Amino acid sequence: MAYDYDDNNIFAKILRGEIPNDTVAENDHALAFRDIAPKAPSHVLVIPKGRYVSFDDFAANASEAEMVGFMRLCAEVCESEGISLGSGNQGFRAIANSGPHGVQEVPHFHLHIMGGRMMGPMIS
Ligand code: IMP
Repeated sequence: MAYDYDDNNIFAKILRGEIPNDTVAENDHALAFRDIAPKAPSHVLVIPKGRYVSFDDFAANASEAEMVGFMRLCAEVCESEGISLGSGNQGFRAIANSGPHGVQEVPHFHLHIMGGRMMGPMIS
C-alpha cells in the first residue's frame, strides 16, 4: 500500500528540531511530547521518528525494532505520567486518529495518551 508522506507537516518539523516541543521521553525510534492543547491533565503525543502517515501505515510498514521502540516509549510515558495500570493507577485512553473519518489533523502517525481524569463517551 502507498502512503504519501508530507515532509512539511508540523510533527516532521518537530522531529527536525525546526519548532520547539515539550519533550516527555525519547528513544532511538520514537518521541513523546505534550500536546499543545491538552484535553486532559495528562495529554502526551507519541510519534515514531520514521516517516509514517497514519496508524495503518505504521502497522503495515514499520520495522519490528521501530514498533517495539514506539510501544516501549508509550509504556514509559504511562509510567512517568502516573497513569499506568501496572503501577496501580486509574488508567488512560490511547487514541490514533487516522485519516479524514478519524479526524486526523497532523499527517504523521501519533498516539494520543490521555489520563488524569475520567474520560467521557468514546464516540463523538
Ligand atoms: P490529530 O487530530 O489526532 O491529528 O491531533 C493532532 C494534535 O496535535 C492535536 O491534539 C493538537 O493540539 C496537537 N498539536 C498540533 N501542533 C502541535 C505542536 O506544535 N506541539 C504539540 N502538539 C501539537
